Amino acid sequence: MKTIAAGVDIGSTTAKCVLITDGTVLFGPILLTGANPTKAGEQALEDTLSKLNSPPERRYVVATGYGRVTAPFADETVTEISCHGRGAHYLYPDTRTVIDIGGQDSKAISLGDDGRVIDFVLNDKCAAGTGRFLEFASRLVLEVQLSELGDLSTKANKPAQISSTCTVFALTEIVSLLAEGTSKENIVAGLHNAIAQRVAAMVKKVGARPAIMITGGVAKNIGLRSALARELGAEVNPPHNADPQLVGALGAAIVAKERLDKA
Ligand code: ADP
Repeated sequence: MKTIAAGVDIGSTTAKCVLITDGTVLFGPILLTGANPTKAGEQALEDTLSKLNSPPERRYVVATGYGRVTAPFADETVTEISCHGRGAHYLYPDTRTVIDIGGQDSKAISLGDDGRVIDFVLNDKCAAGTGRFLEFASRLVLEVQLSELGDLSTKANKPAQISSTCTVFALTEIVSLLAEGTSKENIVAGLHNAIAQRVAAMVKKVGARPAIMITGGVAKNIGLRSALARELGAEVNPPHNADPQLVGALGAAIVAKERLDKA
């Protein structure tokens, strides 16, 4: 009997799915969550299942992410904190600190040797340390693609100072900097530094023990990763063997596999 362990991560911005079958990990697509988180999660699951040669006879689905509470297709829900921890530990067992920066929140998680969560800090109240801030700045003000921010900031020669700690005021500050003729490279580098300072302060609360893994969509931004490494005085790496945005879904799939193995 073919059994499938599925992890579905329904985030504020994207829905992701990872399957584990016969010891093989199958990474699914990254879909926009949009206005219907349930549908997005279901779609991510269906799209990933469609990659299999034949439908599973038995499946166990663990949902995580902010949309997990509205996932009727799931057998169980698990917090993103646990799932990012489990996923990071699986990909790199030496991981002791996970920094997850998603669309609408950021978290710092401290892990034990076995990948269990020892401590965590979560910021879901303020957009300034999240991907949404970068989305607003790139799309509304700077008119550059989100995926270009990292490379752009590596070309900065004098990163701008962005002092506002509130997204709305920071965006106003960026508009003023542009009007003064500050280059986009220097503005983006300043933006990354401002976010990194906020996230680093949060990470220090859980200890910032190495190895430090960064997960979530924002982990794809090399400029932010470098700024964070400078702030923490430590290496901050995304997983070398998986998409950082899929680590939460992977963790959920690992939990699902454990349930199937115990059944
Ligand atoms: P959530 O799980 O909360 O939905 P994700 O982990 O999917 O969030 O991350 C979404 C965020 O990732 C977006 O807000 C965006 O800032 C960032 N992001 C996604 N893709 C990229 C990319 N290619 N380069 C830089 N940032 C990215």
